[in-house]
Amino acid sequence: MHREIVKQLPKIELHCHLDGSIRPETLVKIASKQGIQFPTNTQELHDLLVAPPDCQNLNDYLKRFDVVLTCLQTEDALQEASLDIISQAAEENIRYIEVRFAPSLHMQKGLSLPKIVTSVLKGLRQGTEKYGVQSNALLCGMRNEELQDIEKIVHLAKDFETQGVGGFDLAGNEIDFPPYTFEETLDLVQQLDLPLTLHAGECGCGKNVADAVTLGAKRIGHGIAVKDTPEYFSLLKENNVLLEMCPTSNFQTKTITSIADYPFKAFLAAGIKVCINTDNRTVSETTLTDEYMKLHEWYKITYADMEQLNHHAIEGAFISDSEKQRLHEQLSSSYQQKKG
Ligand SMILES: [Zn+2]
Repeated sequence: MHREIVKQLPKIELHCHLDGSIRPETLVKIASKQGIQFPTNTQELHDLLVAPPDCQNLNDYLKRFDVVLTCLQTEDALQEASLDIISQAAEENIRYIEVRFAPSLHMQKGLSLPKIVTSVLKGLRQGTEKYGVQSNALLCGMRNEELQDIEKIVHLAKDFETQGVGGFDLAGNEIDFPPYTFEETLDLVQQLDLPLTLHAGECGCGKNVADAVTLGAKRIGHGIAVKDTPEYFSLLKENNVLLEMCPTSNFQTKTITSIADYPFKAFLAAGIKVCINTDNRTVSETTLTDEYMKLHEWYKITYADMEQLNHHAIEGAFISDSEKQRLHEQLSSSYQQKKG
């Protein structure tokens, strides 16, 4: 596979965090408008925003987000950040993207939850108009927060479901807050019939992935740890669960330490559906093109494999059947032309 062709072929991305994916130069612009100083030296800015090579674990990785969040506390900043993500998606021909964020992390200067969501949706819509990239937002509850506060986010997702919010997710510290901590919250998600994806198996154990599925997740963020518990493979397969894999991030968080251990092939061989994502474009210093090139380097994947992974992503996307159909057709015809 050639980088330029991979970049140009249509792609779908389902796992991209808003706060971890803003271009450094956009972030500097957003910050300076608010009188917040960021380093002007490119290397210093890089070191502040990008996870270091010696990143120790998931919680160490998550520290990068604090500095970004200080400047994502106004309506303008949120709108601009969201538009920035869509412009990056457009650059590498992503046709549909789900951008996730935790509304509760943007209340430091008194913004209300609905204002926060409205601002992000405005930026995403602006991106669709400007670049033609379709998108939906996913609202994340933070695992370390009070259950009643997380439930507010669930209701918020329901309130905005027809206006560009695709579903709900739980993010953050998985070790201390495994899936069953949130049994009641996830019951509520089911009652409200909200599409659910959960971060699981990013650290901790494979059982977290199985529990997340039992609790109603249709998709799993990462799911890597389930590789060591093959007894759960059939559960994933039977429930048609899609694993949102993020290769670069999975190494940075030390979920995986060697390529031989990376379960990409093992999952596919077991009939489990996977799709490929960036997780955090800036913190992980990557693009979706980079992620596919990595898989090509490691496993010699082909354009046909890449097409298949993107069809998986469409099948798992939180959109209507007619939208899925349209994306499947777009994808098939572009990859067909490539072959022709
Ligand atoms: Zn994630």
